[in-house]
Amino acid sequence: MSIKEKPRFPNPRFFGQLLIFLGGLLLLSNIVLSTFFAPRIQRVAYSLFISQVEDGKVLQVLLGENEIRYQIKDEEGKPGRILATTPIFDLELPKRLEAKGVIFGAPPPAQNPWVGTLLSWVIPPLILVLVWQYFLNRNSEPQGALSINKSKAKVYVQDDAKKITFNDVAGVDEAKAELAEIVEFLKNPQRYNEIGARIPKGVLLVGPPGTGKTLLAKAVAGEAGVPFFSISGSEFVELFVGTGAARVRDLFEQAKQKAPCIIFIDELDAIGKSRASGNFYSGGNDEREQTLNQLLTEMDGFAAGDATVIVLAATNRPEALDRALRRPGRFDRQVLVDRPDLAGREEILRIYAQKVKVEPEVDLHAIATITPGFGGADLANLVNEAALLAARYHRSAVTQADFAEAIERVIAGLEKKSRVLGDKEKKIVAYHEVGHAIVGAAMPGVAKVSKISIVPRGMSALGYTLQLPTEDRFLMAEGEIRSEIATLLGGRAAEEIVFATVTTGAGNDLQRATDLAQQMVTTYGMSKVLGLVAYDTTSGKSFLDGQMNSRRLISEQTALAIDEEVKQIIESAHEQALMILERNRDIMETIAQQILAKEVIEGEELQNLLKQVQPLPAISEET
Ligand code: ADP
Ligand code: MG
Ligand code: ZN
Repeated sequence: MSIKEKPRFPNPRFFGQLLIFLGGLLLLSNIVLSTFFAPRIQRVAYSLFISQVEDGKVLQVLLGENEIRYQIKDEEGKPGRILATTPIFDLELPKRLEAKGVIFGAPPPAQNPWVGTLLSWVIPPLILVLVWQYFLNRNSEPQGALSINKSKAKVYVQDDAKKITFNDVAGVDEAKAELAEIVEFLKNPQRYNEIGARIPKGVLLVGPPGTGKTLLAKAVAGEAGVPFFSISGSEFVELFVGTGAARVRDLFEQAKQKAPCIIFIDELDAIGKSRASGNFYSGGNDEREQTLNQLLTEMDGFAAGDATVIVLAATNRPEALDRALRRPGRFDRQVLVDRPDLAGREEILRIYAQKVKVEPEVDLHAIATITPGFGGADLANLVNEAALLAARYHRSAVTQADFAEAIERVIAGLEKKSRVLGDKEKKIVAYHEVGHAIVGAAMPGVAKVSKISIVPRGMSALGYTLQLPTEDRFLMAEGEIRSEIATLLGGRAAEEIVFATVTTGAGNDLQRATDLAQQMVTTYGMSKVLGLVAYDTTSGKSFLDGQMNSRRLISEQTALAIDEEVKQIIESAHEQALMILERNRDIMETIAQQILAKEVIEGEELQNLLKQVQPLPAISEET
C-alpha cells in the first residue's frame, strides 16, 4: 500500500475482515441449525406412498417440486405422522388423490421457513461482491494488482504548440515521402475505400538507432492530427504469463474507440522475435509467443471499412522479426530510415542550430562534411554539446571552434584531462599515431588525415588520428581497402621500427584490419584464390531483406584457404606499411617530435609535413 492512498473507509481492511467473519458465522449457523434441529421427517418409497393413498390412509398432501410431504391418518382417522417421499414423473397422481378424496396442493411459495437457507444463498455472493469492491477501491490507482492487464500505452493528445511535424525531421526524405502517404490515408480514408484500395494496416520503420524512427512516427500523428498511442515492445512483457496478450487486446480495444488513430509500437523486436530463432534453453518464450500471436490476431482483426487504426512499429533488428509479422495485411510496408547523407546532415544541423544562438559565420556545410556516419540523434547531441561549450567559455553564441571541439567530443568521447600518460607511453603513442598518418598519406585513396593527437580521450583511445573523408563513400575499390588495411597497420609498424618491440596499443587496429581483410575474401569476392564466391552472408545485406542467413557451409579446405588468404592480405599490407615508414623515417621523426612537444598537430602545419611523405615506387607485379 502506498502512503499517498486516501482511505475510503475508516479502516477498510478491518471492515473487510469483519464482513467475511460475520458471513462465515451466518453460513455455519445455518448449516448447523438445519441439520441438527430440523424436524425429522421419515422418508418412504414412492410405491409405499401410492399404496397408502390407495388404502385411503392419506389425509393431506403437499406436492413440492422436489419433495412430496404427506400426513397419514392414525388408527382413529385423526391426523397423524408426517412422511415424505421423492416425486417421480406421474401425471396420474392428482387423479388418484382426487379419487380418494385427499386434500392436496402445492406448497406456498415462501413455504420454506428457514431464513438461514435464504441467507445462505444471498450472503456468500454478497460477501464476494463486497470484497471485490473493496479491492477495486483500494486499487483505483492504475498500477494496482488488478490493472495488470491494462496496456500501458501513453496517449499523446495533440497539443498544437508542441506538435511534431515532418518539418522537425530531416535527412530521411524517402521515409518521409512514404509516410506522407500514410497521413493521407488517415485524413481521407474514404477516398481510398471508394476505389477499393486496401489501406495498409502496418508500417514498419527500420533503421539503425538514433536515426529518427520514433520522431517520424510522432510526426505522422502530428501531421494527421489523430490520437497517437505509444508503447514500447518491452512493456508488453511482464512477469505473469498472459499479461502481454491481455495488454495487446486492451491496447487495440482502446485504439478502436478512438479511431482513426495510430498505434506506435517501439522496439517491436522485443515481442516480435522470430519464433524459430528462439533459444531452446532460454525458456519464457511462451509468453512472448502468446503476445505475438495476440498481436497478429488483432492486426488481422480489424476488417476493411472498419475503424482506421494504423499500426506503426519501429525496430533496428528487422532480421530478427518473425516472418508472420511481415506478411501482407500486417506489417506489409517497410520504410527504411537510414543514416543521413551529407545534404541530410546539413539539414538536420540547420534544424537544431535554429534552436540555439549560433554565430552567423558558422559553416554548417563544413560541419556536415566532417561528420559522416552521424545519425540524427548524434547531430542533435553535437549541436547541444557545442552550445554547452560556448556557455562554458561565456560566449554569447556558438562559434565554429565550439563545433569543432564538440565533434571531437562526440567522436572520441569526452576529453579526459585527468589521465596523464608517462613519458615513455607518450612517445610510443606519438610514433604509433604518426605511423598511421604517414602510411595513410603514402597510400592511394585513403581519407586525408586532419589531426594527430596524443591527448587521451574517453575509455580506450590513448591517442588518435582523425581522418576526414572528403565525400561520403558508398563504394570502395579493392586498392582502397588494401590502403585502408595498410594504414591501420601503420601504427603497429611504426612501433616495430622505432622501438623494436610491440605494445598492446594496436589491438583495435588489428581487429579492424582483420575484419576488412576477411570481408574482402568472404564477402566481396576480391581474392583471386577463392574467386567470386560469397562465403559469408551474415553481414551487410541481411539488414534490409531481413533474412537471417547463416554462414554458407564450407569445407575444411575452404576454411583453411580463407584463413590463409586473410593472413596473406594482412601480411602484405604490413610489409607495405613497414616499407613506407622506412622510406619516410626522417619525416616520421620530425612529426613525432612536434607532437611530443605540442600534443596535437593539425591543419596547414600537418598538411605541409605530410606533403613531404614519399609513396612507394610503383610495383609492376602484384598478386
Ligand atoms: P530512433 O527511434 O530511430 O532510435 P529517435 O527518433 O528516438 O531515434 O531519435 C532521437 C532524437 O534524435 C530525436 O528525438 C531527435 O531529436 C533526433 N533526431 C533523430 N533523427 C532525426 C532526424 N532525421 N531529424 C531530426 N532530428 C532527429
Ligand atoms: Mg526509438
Ligand atoms: Zn592505432
